[in-house]
Amino acid sequence: MTLDSIKSTSYFKERYPQFFSDELIEFYCLDGWADLLDAGFALIAELDYHFKLIQVKEKLGGLRIYCKGDPESKEICNWMMSKSYEICSECSSRDGVKTEGDYLVTLCKVCREKEE
Ligand SMILES: [Zn+2]
Repeated sequence: MTLDSIKSTSYFKERYPQFFSDELIEFYCLDGWADLLDAGFALIAELDYHFKLIQVKEKLGGLRIYCKGDPESKEICNWMMSKSYEICSECSSRDGVKTEGDYLVTLCKVCREKEE
């Protein structure tokens, strides 16, 4: 993934305005998970489920999504959250991804070596 393709909060707000409301507390997605979030949101949008974001953040090395909506949309969120542990939170590589450290972070082999 190149720097140019990294998706910002404004990207998501423009692409999925129907998911945003004044109930949103926080929207924070690490760069490596932006494509994952985009894939899940695209599916929810395509299937036209009722879905409103409350909070998107990182916790204990994983993506967390709190939302209101149809049960099917929550299942897609659960899928994104469990998938985040297989994807590097910095560069979105799936190569040798582990969740570890004092502050649990999910990184690929290359990014882990950079941090050391
Ligand atoms: Zn990485």
